[in-house]
Amino acid sequence: MLKLILIGIQGAGKSTQGNLLSQKLDIPYLSSGHIFREMAKEKTPLGRFLKETMNAGALIPDDKTIEIIEEYLAKPEYAKGYILDGFPRTTKQAEIFSNGVDKVIYLKVSDKEALWRISGRMSDREDETLMAIRKRIELFHEFTEPVIAYYGSQGRLVEVDGERDIQEIFNDILTHVEAK
Ligand code: AMP
Repeated sequence: MLKLILIGIQGAGKSTQGNLLSQKLDIPYLSSGHIFREMAKEKTPLGRFLKETMNAGALIPDDKTIEIIEEYLAKPEYAKGYILDGFPRTTKQAEIFSNGVDKVIYLKVSDKEALWRISGRMSDREDETLMAIRKRIELFHEFTEPVIAYYGSQGRLVEVDGERDIQEIFNDILTHVEAK
């Protein structure tokens, strides 16, 4: 049973590393952004609300987020653990999240490098406008950096330099995870 959290700004390489870890460790990878994007397709008041919020690059309210993520993680496929990307994103989410966390991997990349990477990749995501991306980075500094400190004080944090070769970063993460 292994519960990993990936934290980093958009463009830090969370989904790349999440998928590599998932293959290697044989535990599922999931991202809160992906869950919300799927739900935002629904033509319901909640679907429309999620879509508007995401397109603005704003955060979904904590209570709603926690409810949705915990319900999702209750599915049997996550019973043996998971690699979760994009959640918790605020201290409140981290405090209330009742599933437990083994290690939190912070993929550290500068804003400049992240923006450079994002601008160089093709995207079919409606919420990947420059304005939404900048907003997400701004919110990361304001709300998610305290989450990093929170897990740091619990001794669960692994900080990894994300401005390196994909394989090098991956090996670094594995060393930390296996030392658990
Ligand atoms: P991401 O794919 O992680 O960049 O997430 C895309 C969007 O989904 C964000 O801009 C938020 O609107 C929403 N979102 C994802 N995860 C969370 C979260 N933990 N708390 C609040 N909103 C979230």
